[in-house]
Amino acid sequence: MTDHTAEDFQDVYVRIQSDLVVIGDSIMTDRHHASNGNYEDGDPQNQIGGIIPAFPLSGWLRHGVESVVQRYGSTACHPGEANANFKKNGVYERDLEGGYHEKGACINEQPAADGCVVFDLFGGFGGIPGKVMRRPIKFNPVRSSVDYTRGQAEGHYRRLNRNIVSRNRADGREPLRNAELDAVANLDGCWHLSFREPKPEFLGVLCEAIDFLDSHQTDFMHQLGGARNFGAGIVDAHVINPLYDDRELNRVFDRGKTERT
Ligand SMILES: [Zn+2]
Repeated sequence: MTDHTAEDFQDVYVRIQSDLVVIGDSIMTDRHHASNGNYEDGDPQNQIGGIIPAFPLSGWLRHGVESVVQRYGSTACHPGEANANFKKNGVYERDLEGGYHEKGACINEQPAADGCVVFDLFGGFGGIPGKVMRRPIKFNPVRSSVDYTRGQAEGHYRRLNRNIVSRNRADGREPLRNAELDAVANLDGCWHLSFREPKPEFLGVLCEAIDFLDSHQTDFMHQLGGARNFGAGIVDAHVINPLYDDRELNRVFDRGKTERT
């Protein structure tokens, strides 16, 4: 049995699997490489890859961490500033009664504290970065081009079209506009997180948060991205053993592929 220190857990990979993820309009695609000048959205031959930005992934993870902290009876840093918009709706006050403390209040405690684990991980005001770096996920439809050890995923870019029709009876369901959604179908891969400063409690809370998100994957609150009422954003997630080396990590994704070495 080898002894391990927190440094062994500087980089952590989270397995993410989802039938459909809709990240608003913020999926960046490399379709210009694939289109050769005649790109068709619906063509299944399109070999379009892209990037899922870290921002929605981070919000999803943060919600999981907040829920874990609250289940242990603590309050979590509120993700937003106590600004006028929140105040107007009474949302901020309601949150403060429902398991949150004011953002950053935890670092102003006496004696001076490091802040709660949510603040420590995700950061807060201006100059204070979170200690977990959340990377974007690069996806590619061709599995052999996916490098799981670099936090990549197999995923198939899709553009969904929706006709928004008039709800006014007299209009006879006249289309008002066409909405296009960028989506990634059959996503399966790794999300790479790294701790700027590894602490054992970070790994603990991360594992619990991912477990929580996995077991609450169909809760509206804990789905990822948009179009959640339509079945998007249901994510199977688990932390991959951080002690795996690259070969072992690749084997996690090795679905019947024979090794060619
Ligand atoms: Zn806090």
